[in-house]
Amino acid sequence: MEYDYIIIGAGSAGNTLAARLTEDADVSVLLLEAGGPDYRLDFRTQMPAALAYPLQGTRYNWAYKTDPEPHMNNRRMDCGRGKGLGGSSLINGMCYIRGNALDYDNWATMPGLEDWSYLDCLPYFRKAETRDIGPNDYHGGDGPVSVTTPKPGNNVLFHAMVEAGVQAGYPKTEDLNGYQQEGFGPMDRTVTPNGRRASTARGYLDQAKDRPNLTIVTHAVTDRVLFENKRAVGVKYLRGREQATTARARREVLLCGGAIASPQVLQRSGVGPASLLKGLGIEVVHDLPGVGQNLQDHLEMYLQYECKQPVSLYPALKWWNQPAIGAQWLFAGSGIGASNQFEAGGFIRSRDEFDWPNIQFHFLPVAVSYNGSNAYDGHSFQAHVGSMRSPSRGRIQIRSTDPKVDPSILFNYMAHEQDWQEFRDGIRLTREIINQPALDPFRGKELSPGVEAQSDADLDAFVREHAETAYHPSCSCKMGTDEMAVVDGQGRVHGVEGLRVVDASIMPQIITGNLNATTIMIAEKIADRIRGRQPLPRSTAAYYVAKGSPVRKAPQRG
Ligand SMILES: Cc1cc2nc3c(=O)[nH]c(=O)nc-3n(C[C@H](O)[C@H](O)[C@H](O)COP(=O)(O)OP(=O)(O)OC[C@H]3O[C@@H](n4cnc5c(N)ncnc54)[C@H](O)[C@@H]3O)c2cc1C
Repeated sequence: MEYDYIIIGAGSAGNTLAARLTEDADVSVLLLEAGGPDYRLDFRTQMPAALAYPLQGTRYNWAYKTDPEPHMNNRRMDCGRGKGLGGSSLINGMCYIRGNALDYDNWATMPGLEDWSYLDCLPYFRKAETRDIGPNDYHGGDGPVSVTTPKPGNNVLFHAMVEAGVQAGYPKTEDLNGYQQEGFGPMDRTVTPNGRRASTARGYLDQAKDRPNLTIVTHAVTDRVLFENKRAVGVKYLRGREQATTARARREVLLCGGAIASPQVLQRSGVGPASLLKGLGIEVVHDLPGVGQNLQDHLEMYLQYECKQPVSLYPALKWWNQPAIGAQWLFAGSGIGASNQFEAGGFIRSRDEFDWPNIQFHFLPVAVSYNGSNAYDGHSFQAHVGSMRSPSRGRIQIRSTDPKVDPSILFNYMAHEQDWQEFRDGIRLTREIINQPALDPFRGKELSPGVEAQSDADLDAFVREHAETAYHPSCSCKMGTDEMAVVDGQGRVHGVEGLRVVDASIMPQIITGNLNATTIMIAEKIADRIRGRQPLPRSTAAYYVAKGSPVRKAPQRG
């Protein structure tokens, strides 16, 4: 039970590391995953259109709840996280979005993060990706993650929605991950060319799982990291009713549990805010106050409309139509089942004061909640709208030393006036877009919030009661050098040795978009560091910066 590296968590980041590190045949890796091994057989995780199903149980979902959120009518809100090989990439919405170039240039202005500029990160986005329509300066052609672009003959509502955005005065962009993120356009997906979910298990573990130097143990819940003095030397994990097992790491322990679990594992292991640990009787290995702090997420709401023409996905929600959809997907890899149905979207700046987009749109040609509930009984469509870089900050704290006890999670959503302003703007600007001529043939009654909701107070009440997570928790073990930073720019935990965190928790600030591609990029980049390889050469690709925005130039590498 001794390995060079022990990786905790087989999610987006953990699988990336496991595959890259075991490319070196003389390196041994143990990959521990709390969930199960199945990432290929169950249609609920494989069929893109079935994305709501894994959220409806706990087989693939940790299904956390937040503490009562004080600014959200004290609702205990959903905090779904993936479980099983693939982690959250096994249950996510498959929208392939990388964030805005200026997110990374902004990270790179932070001390210790100089090599996280967009042009430093872009080669790693490319390395991870295979895009179905071929590589270019922004996209990869031979990486493990399959990305497919929407096809011209897809639902007419996608085209009408993009056109409506343009008619409302926003740019059209052909590629939300290319030269220009800002504007409206088609949205790529992490789906294989034959219509299967491209989780990181499929992408990375398929390549690596048969290597003799990779050991994968599923249903293995890591209790804690073991230390000798201040050096991480192994882990203790639990499997069902078996005795706890100890495994030793000759080189490093790599914590990839994601933004909710990684701070929990650190806290249980004695790395975290000393007062919290002492209160639970945990011996303090290192007092690190930032562990579990700085928690961020994207909140979103749905603006829903009746559709006057029978072109929405409404028939696909009827059980009697589903066998045919399933058969076409299973045998031909095509049809409605082969798409996540988020095939258009956009990013806008709601006010000039934002240097890069602060609002994201996902369009869906049917009105339904993310987890499949509350479907409208009729033809309909909706826009998911949410702000991107909320100033609100939350925290995660363990309540017990028992790994089976859920932590206390508080996002503190909508704690700032800026949040309320952005959501009010978001609703009003969405209505303006949906009212454009391109949607005249389709737009029926506004179902939600409903036209009667007009005043600031009405809109605020709607958000308080109906906004939901976009499932992007992050930043709870942030990179940096200040007193609240948990890891350095290579994921190494401050104050101890032999331990890194590599996952969505180490983002210093949440990005402008969905997090999966960025989490994989982070793991690709740090994998090169762990392997002692030279970073990939900086890209020289051009990228868009809105007129009038002060360009945050990437600092020169030292
Ligand atoms: C419902 C949903 C929809 C989303 N939609 C999108 C989308 O459309 N596009 C997008 O880009 N992003 C999306 N995301 C976000 C994105 O998938 C995640 O941000 C990303 O996968 C996080 O990667 P990670 O490596 O940080 O953590 P994860 O992928 O969550 O991996 C963590 C792994 O660690 C395991 N683990 C946890 N605790 C332990 C323990 N104690 N011992 C052993 N193993 C443990 C977990 O079971 C899990 O497998 C979505 C997420 C969800 C949940």
